[in-house]
Amino acid sequence: MITKEQVLDIVAKEKIEFIRVEFLDYAGVTRGRTIRPAQLEDAMEKGVNFSTAIMSFDTFDEYIPNPAYGPNDGDFFAVPDPSTFAILPYRKNTARMLCDLVDINGEPWHGCPRGALKRLLNEVETLLGGKMYMAFEQEAYLLKDQGGQLVPADNSHCFSSEGADLQEDFIQDFVYSLEGMGVKTEQISSEYGPGQLEINLKYTNALKAADDQVTFMHLFKQIARDKGMVGTLMPKPFQHLAGSGLHVHISLYDEAGENLFEDPTDQRGLDMSEKAYQFIGGLLKHGSSLIAIGAPSVNSYKRMQPGSWAPAHICYGSGNRSVLVRIPEKRRARRFEYRGADGTCNPYLLAACLVASGIRGIQNQLDPGEPVDFDVSAASEFQLKERNISWVPRSLKEAVDHLAQDSVLAQTIGRSIWEEFIKIKRTEWDKYSRYVSEWERNLFSARF
Ligand code: GLU
Ligand code: MG
Ligand code: MG
Repeated sequence: MITKEQVLDIVAKEKIEFIRVEFLDYAGVTRGRTIRPAQLEDAMEKGVNFSTAIMSFDTFDEYIPNPAYGPNDGDFFAVPDPSTFAILPYRKNTARMLCDLVDINGEPWHGCPRGALKRLLNEVETLLGGKMYMAFEQEAYLLKDQGGQLVPADNSHCFSSEGADLQEDFIQDFVYSLEGMGVKTEQISSEYGPGQLEINLKYTNALKAADDQVTFMHLFKQIARDKGMVGTLMPKPFQHLAGSGLHVHISLYDEAGENLFEDPTDQRGLDMSEKAYQFIGGLLKHGSSLIAIGAPSVNSYKRMQPGSWAPAHICYGSGNRSVLVRIPEKRRARRFEYRGADGTCNPYLLAACLVASGIRGIQNQLDPGEPVDFDVSAASEFQLKERNISWVPRSLKEAVDHLAQDSVLAQTIGRSIWEEFIKIKRTEWDKYSRYVSEWERNLFSARF
């Protein structure tokens, strides 16, 4: 664990001139300020001030009126966490630190997404007898500008060596940059779509996993930019091509390193423990509102189409990629994969809500039923009804309406984040629903 003093030493030794103190707003945008080394000690003690209103800003568009935090609601303070100190690989004199947000009294601020996750993780050990581990698997596209249009940066096939060759320069720089910032990678592949990649991060404790995802989001875009491309985590950049998901592998280990999600005597034959099934039961029970947190953009719902390998139904299964929660084949360490999120989410809120839903599942001993062993996306409505399987919300509006009814998730992220999040996302939906597209104009002007 790196200390404040060690951070100050490194800054002096490595001649760091600029330190970015960063955090994520509710919509998942990384924000912060840059401070000079002379301010760092004070920042690590007291924090750097920001207006509370910026947590809900949509600076790309118009200001979202923010009754919860108005211009008079004062500041919060971003306190850099020494354990997140990393030198930016593409700017040798600049470092980055992720922050915890505190209020005017130095107490954890109720509006801090990272704080919400930390609060919950502190309870997990008592509640579940182990620590939560996560591995994030992000898919993302590399695009290039072709005559003013963004198109995939290459034409390679899924898992092809050609794909690995064509993007080798990007992949190697990206992976070395991640690793230089303390983020371990495991596997890299050319994904289904042309120009689409998947880079799997190594599993680690849930807080670091969310921090690592923040680093991933930033570097993917920056390294692509450095190479004259556009890197994007948006869930469905092209209607006719594969979407980009953010899958989260979840596991629970006790102090002695024992996997609490594993049980070789499992009646269902998947070597999973009762705790694991109940956790999954919680994920399914909160399935619709979790989607609002993990897939929080209007574009997210274009990804989750039946038959696309992205989940369109709330169910679980083993070795089945049409489900929301997939249990990998038995040769792999016992864990499960939540497939409902994408790169537009705030990973702290996502991790917190996944864990909270799982805890509720265990506390209430929720039975997720039998795993689905067929392609749900091809099932009839009758079959779905028979198995009690519902659709994933079909729009941001539907998902947010579910979240607005979910008191467990409201309590998990705290009432003020929950309210602000719902407001931001309803605003996004309203703007989107007012937009008249070319598709509509062509279709309806020809018909009517
Ligand atoms: N691209 C799919 C998604 O949007 C997942 C494909 C895979 O299983 O790797 O979730
Ligand atoms: Mg994939
Ligand atoms: Mg996966």
